[in-house]
Parts: sequence; structure tokens; C-alpha cells
Amino acid sequence: MEIELLADLIVQAKKVVVFTGAGVSTESGIPDFRSPGGIWSRYDPEGFTIQKFLSSPEARRMQWKMLTEGGLTTQGEPNPAHYAIAELENLGKLDCVITQNVDNLHQKAGVPENKVFELHGNMQWAICLSCHRRFPMKEVLQWITEGIEVPDCPNCRGILKPDAVFFGEALPQETLTEATRHSENCDLFIVIGSTLVVYPAAYMPTHAKDVGAKLAIINLSPTPLDHYATVLIQGKAGEIMPKVVEKVRIKLQSKSTKS
Ligand code: NAD
Repeated sequence: MEIELLADLIVQAKKVVVFTGAGVSTESGIPDFRSPGGIWSRYDPEGFTIQKFLSSPEARRMQWKMLTEGGLTTQGEPNPAHYAIAELENLGKLDCVITQNVDNLHQKAGVPENKVFELHGNMQWAICLSCHRRFPMKEVLQWITEGIEVPDCPNCRGILKPDAVFFGEALPQETLTEATRHSENCDLFIVIGSTLVVYPAAYMPTHAKDVGAKLAIINLSPTPLDHYATVLIQGKAGEIMPKVVEKVRIKLQSKSTKS
């Protein structure tokens, strides 16, 4: 019923924005922060601010350890939810993806790079805070495996940091501006796998709602915006999204044969 309704909304919409959080990637084996068993049930978020990271090599050692052991540097594979979102693009129904995720999985599933707005950066890279050279995370992880617990820049020995936004850091301004613009210009905004409590990312659905867009939320647990949603589906993104997109495909086909 809700799946059918969401498929209808997608078919009718002119501009569909998909907004994703860590929950879209749990079925790829990357834990989220706030679910039971998530990263915050094992680590204290207070320990992972940019201020702490910059404060000492010991703090950096702890943060690299948490990022690698916690699964955030995992080079995961897209799951059926990522592929279903990419299929919306193939069907001509995707304006863009705005994501809080740092795992690169939307691009890996086939959404064009220029349609993915990464509000919190991308963990596939590490950046030197002094000379700004970037290194593939795969390479940095190799150094860690070889025993370098606090990797620094091989070029200038500056501090090396994952190219993701840490707590206490500003979001990339241009990406935030573009994501806001797309949110304010859509007529359907679909949230998938986010608690909607991390700001300013969580303002995006509100921007969309304020301009009259319909809101759909697919999430395992309740969110603060559930009461605004035209469609609310509590369930697994990897199970729901392929069903929704299959219905969209069928509806679009029957529309084109009728016209
Ligand atoms: P969150 O951890 O706060 O919430 C994830 C939400 O997803 C929860 O409400 C949970 O119920 C839901 N969920 C979990 N599995 C799901 C599934 N299979 N289907 C549908 N819903 C599911 O994550 P958030 O809201 O994205 O915000 C936290 C921060 O986490 C973000 O800043 C993000 O950068 C970071 N993060 C990213 C990754 C990643 O890139 N994969 C992983 C962990 C954390």
C-alpha cells in the first residue's frame, strides 16, 4: 500500500531528491552510528571531534583506530537500495542524491558523480592538512596495517586526516549551498536511512517541506519528521527500495504505451 503510494508519487513528481543517511549502507555491512550495535554503542562520540584529532598524536591514533575498527573505512559494496536509487536515475526520475554518507556507494552503484552531494565528505581519501595532497584511503590503510598507527603525509609530514567532515568542522560550503538549492526546488523529497538529528544536514527535508514538496521517509526507527511525511515506511531500505522502483518502472512503461 505505502510502496504503491510512493511509486505513484515518484511517477507524478518532476524533481525527486533522495536524501540518505548511514541506514542506507548498513545492509552493505557498514554500521550506522545510532542503531543498537551502531558505532556509538562502542565508542564515545565526544572523543571524535576535530579539536581532539588536532590536539595530539595519541588522539589521532585513537581516532584512526576507531575509524578502521568501527568499519567506516571499509570499502563496501552497494546493496539493493543503492542500486534501486541508481535505477531511478536510469528511469529519468532522479534529480540528485544528497547524502550524509562518506562511503562512496551511491557513485559505485552508478549514480553520476555530479548528481551526488556529499555533505560530510568521502572516506575514500585522506588529505594532508598542511600541503593538501590527497591520498587514496586504501594506501593509508596499508600503512596502518604495516604498523604506522598515526599516518602522516609522506610528502611534507603534515597531519593526515580522512577527507570526511569531523564533529566540530564546517561542511563544504559549495556542496551545502547546492544541496539546499536542490532541496528547495524539488517536489518530492525521499529520506532513506537517517535519524534526521544531525544538523545542518537534517535541515534539507525541512527546506523541501517549506516549499511544498511531498516528503517520504523510509527508516527502521522513528524520526522527528515522521508526522510531516506523506508516506512513511518503517523497514529495511534494501528490501523496500527495489520494490518501489520496480513499481515505478512498470507504471512508467504503461504510461508510455498508453500515450
Ligand atoms: P544514524 O546512525 O544517526 O541513523 C541511521 C538510521 O538508519 C537509524 O534511524 C536507523 O534506524 C536507520 N537504519 C539502519 N539500518 C537501516 C536499514 N537497513 N534500512 C532503513 N533504515 C535503517 O545515521 P545518520 O542519520 O546518517 O547520521 C549520522 C552520521 O553518520 C552522518 O553524519 C554520517 O556521516 C555518519 N555515518 C556514515 C556512514 C556511512 O558512510 N556509511 C556510517 C556511519 C555513520
